[in-house]
Amino acid sequence: MDYARILSEIVEEVRPLVGKGRAAEYIPPLAEVPRDRFGMVVRTVGNEVFQVGDSGERFSIQSIAKVFSLTLAMRLEGDAVWERVGREPSGSAFNSLVQLEVERGIPRNPFINAGALVVLDMILDHQAEGADLVLDFVRRASADPSVGYDESVAGAERATGHRNRALAHFLRSFDNLGNDPDRVLDAYFRLCSISMSCAGLATAFHYLATGGLSAGGEEVATPRQAKRVNSVMLTCGVYDEAGDYAYRVGLPAKSGVGGGVVAVMPGRFVATVWSPCLSEKGNSLAGTMALELLTTKTALSVF
Ligand code: GLN
Repeated sequence: MDYARILSEIVEEVRPLVGKGRAAEYIPPLAEVPRDRFGMVVRTVGNEVFQVGDSGERFSIQSIAKVFSLTLAMRLEGDAVWERVGREPSGSAFNSLVQLEVERGIPRNPFINAGALVVLDMILDHQAEGADLVLDFVRRASADPSVGYDESVAGAERATGHRNRALAHFLRSFDNLGNDPDRVLDAYFRLCSISMSCAGLATAFHYLATGGLSAGGEEVATPRQAKRVNSVMLTCGVYDEAGDYAYRVGLPAKSGVGGGVVAVMPGRFVATVWSPCLSEKGNSLAGTMALELLTTKTALSVF
C-alpha cells in the first residue's frame, strides 16, 4: 500500500476544507490556535510511519484522551465499569445534561463528558496521593515520558467549565460520583488538556490496532479489552455524528474539540489527523474528510 502517495493526495484534496467550520471557541486557548493547520499520520502495525503537514505539532487532544481513561478503568475495574456507565451511542451533544436526568445519572457511554467523569471517579478510587495513573498510562502506551498536561488549557477549562461542573454535581446527586466533584473535575480538565502531536497519538494508539500491545511491545490491554474499546469508539467515539462517521469512514474513531481525530484499522494501522475547525457536532471537518478519503483510497475499513 502506497500510504505516502495517498497522504500527499489527501492533503491536496482536503485543502479547501481547512479553516472551514469553527474552532472550539468556548475554551479560550483553543480559539487562538491558527486555523490553517492540518496534519495527518498513518502508522502501521509494523511501525512504519507516513506523515504529512503539521503532523509533529502538539495540540490539545481533548476528548481523545477519554480512550485512555476508559482503557485504564477497564483494567482496574473489569466489567464493574458497566454498572455505572452505559455503552450505547448518545445521539445527543457530548455535554448534554438532559439525557443524564432522564437516565437517572447513568451516562449513556464513557465518551460523553458525564461518562468520562464517572470513569475518572473510578480511577481516582485506585490512585494514591501524588500518583497520576492516567498520565502513567498514556506515557506507557506512547513510550514517551514527556507527554503531559497543558496547564493553561486545563486552567481555562477550570475557569469556564460550568457545564461540566453541573454534570459532576448532577452525577453526585444520583450517587454516581463517590469522590469530591472538584477532585474529579480537576482530573477531567487535566485529562482534556493533554497535549500531543498526530505522530505521538498514532504511537499511543498502537495498542488498539494490535490487540493490546503498545508500540514498545508492552501489553497495555488484553485483546478482548482492545476489541471492546474499538467497539465503543465505533458506536460512540464521535458523539452524535457516529452514524455518519461509520457511513463515511468505516473505522472506530475518537475525536476531540481540539480538532484531532484518531481512527483505528485493527491489524493494519492507526491514522491520526488534526485540523482545528469543527463541524456543528464538534468533530474536525477537514479531519473527517481526510479519514473518509483514506478509507476510500486504501479500500480498507472494518466493513
Ligand atoms: N474539554 C472539552 C469539554 O469538556 C472536551 C470536549 C470534547 O473534546 N468533545 O467540553
